[in-house]
Amino acid sequence: MTIESIAQAAYLVAALLFIFALASLSKHETAKAGNAYGMAGMAIALAATVALAIDRQIETVGLILIGVAMVAGGAIGIWRARVVEMTGMPELIALLHSFVGLAAVLVGWSGYLLVEGGGDPAETAELEALGTLGIHHVEVFIGVVIGAVTFTGSIVAYGKLSGRLKSNPMTLPGKTILNLGALATIVVLTVWFFWSPQVWLLVAVTLVALALGWHLVASIGGGDMPVVVSMLNSYSGWAAAASGFLLDNDLLIVTGALVGASGAYLSYIMCRAMNRSFLSVISGGFGIEAGPADDRDYGEHRETSAEQVAELLWEADSVIIAPGYGMAVAQAQYGVAELTRRLREHGTSVRFAIHPVAGRLPGHMNVLLAEAKVPYDIVLEMDEINGDFAGTEVVLVIGANDTVNPAAETDPGSPIAGMPVLRVWQSDDVIVFKRSMASGYAGVQNPLFFNDNSAMLFGDAKDRVEDIIRALP
Ligand code: NDP
Repeated sequence: MTIESIAQAAYLVAALLFIFALASLSKHETAKAGNAYGMAGMAIALAATVALAIDRQIETVGLILIGVAMVAGGAIGIWRARVVEMTGMPELIALLHSFVGLAAVLVGWSGYLLVEGGGDPAETAELEALGTLGIHHVEVFIGVVIGAVTFTGSIVAYGKLSGRLKSNPMTLPGKTILNLGALATIVVLTVWFFWSPQVWLLVAVTLVALALGWHLVASIGGGDMPVVVSMLNSYSGWAAAASGFLLDNDLLIVTGALVGASGAYLSYIMCRAMNRSFLSVISGGFGIEAGPADDRDYGEHRETSAEQVAELLWEADSVIIAPGYGMAVAQAQYGVAELTRRLREHGTSVRFAIHPVAGRLPGHMNVLLAEAKVPYDIVLEMDEINGDFAGTEVVLVIGANDTVNPAAETDPGSPIAGMPVLRVWQSDDVIVFKRSMASGYAGVQNPLFFNDNSAMLFGDAKDRVEDIIRALP
């Protein structure tokens, strides 16, 4: 058996492990095993790739570069994974997607320099003899285009998620025309490059694709970012698959396709959850125009204290907790779990209402509550519990804002119009935990705060929840 055939078999095993990983990650109980499958698959893939490189007798400098890249990449990866806060995960993921995009651009360019650019005449002659030179031209172009769109798109997503860029949509005049124009230009350049692979065409398409990626994501408003993150996840998969074709690496093609397809499906599910058209979001918020600045007078809000909330909770029979991003920031989940335990021991019905895009990544709230050992059976999805707010006495909105904003239902001009929200305002009393009257991620004011049955409990959510626990009889 040759090293080549052993490596191909190892690639197959790694691909199967990646499929197991994806399947296992879809359930709480098997998620840890899913991570283990993924790590094992990646270790096998790396070992097989290094073995292949040695077997193909690449130059020593190449092997040294592989070693340096693996040690440096591994060290940075371990360090980032150790220090990242749960709330920083989405921006870290966006940044990692940008690396995949950049890698695809570089692989595409190196493919060009070797074959079309004349760097490796033997390779060019071989492709010519096989009659696949034209296919190589197209592979170079597709890899560079998808990679460049993913690269700049992910950087903008990183900026928006980390608060370095404003989360509201950038609305250049004629933005749809700009996007369509860029797409048409890419198609024309691809056909041209197929007939005559000149370097200036590759430079031009790289620049157009970089600009398109930037514009697509910059045009999408804060509320639609969850879809963008999963969409970029999908793009990064297709970028990796495109690199797989160029490098003639089956594992990269399979893995890229897995990531691409699962990311696309996740984007579709999130669009459905947010009542958004998939096409409108992936085409850069097509049809979504920025509304006029909100200078309405919403009236006065009412403030409450931890002691008053403790009293209200002690007298209530039914309580629903709607957690959001602020609970994650404050790391209030442990206090919330303790409060839940105390109230349940007192005989109160306590349940959790989880909005599909609460927090900053899919499943964010479920992970936090599971971490704090809140029983699964009282944690309900939006569709399961949205009809129950009307008969509930007290709702605690803990660091949630956009996901409980009635404007989504009542104000057709709102940037979050049409997004399904938790109907917390239908309960008898709503207590909102937050530090100020600031708006949520989508940057829109929340009329809920000014309702007669709403009261604000200002301060850090963790501190306030602990104050309430201390004030319970
Ligand atoms: P929001 O981001 O709308 O609001 C969070 C609220 O928490 C803010 O109003 C903030 O108010 C408050 N807050 C922040 N820190 C604290 C703290 N320490 N203590 C108390 N309150 C705090 O949260 P939601 O979860 O309701 O909505 C999620 C938003 O994020 C949606 O717009 C969604 O589209 C978007 N998004 C979701 C992703 C996902 O996959 N889930 C991915 C990317 C974006 P204040 O500053 O006054 O304290």
